[in-house]
Amino acid sequence: MTAKQLRQYLEYYKDLGFKDLYVRRPPDDAATGGHGDAETLPTEPRPLTPASESLAQIREDIGDCRRCRLCEQRNKIVFGSGNEQSPLVFVGEGPGADEDAQGLPFVGRAGQLLTQMIEGTAHKEGIPLKRDQVYICNVVKCRPPGNRTPEPDEMRICGQFLFRQLQVIHPKAICVLGATAARALVPDQREGVTKLRGRWFKWNDIPVMVTYHPSYLLRPYNQNAKREAWEDLKKVLHFVYD
Ligand code: URA
Repeated sequence: MTAKQLRQYLEYYKDLGFKDLYVRRPPDDAATGGHGDAETLPTEPRPLTPASESLAQIREDIGDCRRCRLCEQRNKIVFGSGNEQSPLVFVGEGPGADEDAQGLPFVGRAGQLLTQMIEGTAHKEGIPLKRDQVYICNVVKCRPPGNRTPEPDEMRICGQFLFRQLQVIHPKAICVLGATAARALVPDQREGVTKLRGRWFKWNDIPVMVTYHPSYLLRPYNQNAKREAWEDLKKVLHFVYD
């Protein structure tokens, strides 16, 4: 890759909102003590747009991640699951205990409710859709201890992988679940989910709908919010599948 290509590559990521990039040293670079040629870097040319990479490459880049403190207590990295060509992606906050144990997103109680919300709403609206036909992932890929909210630096570091996942899948719409995912994908909005929900925003030209996080809906006193979440989901499903 030439210096000019590298500059284009970095500017592209900057436009996407990435502030930190992590460079994996190529094997022959390690052998020369890291002193590559200033004009021609000692790597094979890589595609200039993330859209031409694959989810498998992104997972490989994450590796056995040690980029932030969330690695210290995690069991499994939870990358994402479902249909990698899905026109609809759901984004949650981060893995809980069940997800951390299984390495899969939304498999605990909140996950069961999310499945019901997706499949139940689709069924009622006459859309034949199963959960495994959409893609589901989180802002942070490792469980925050005690299920605390991810810190801004953790979201920034891990968010670059979420952004790359979304660039590769390039869905017709993204459904954001809760305040943390809204902060990552609708960053200029200062309002809470109650104000943001049910409205369309954009992340890099992809329509984004914010709704409540299923964990919030599991609390018995939030039954009204449940009805609103169903309304939000109906809007998203019709937008994507009609
Ligand atoms: N909550 C999330 O935000 N994500 C999960 O994967 C599970 C619970």
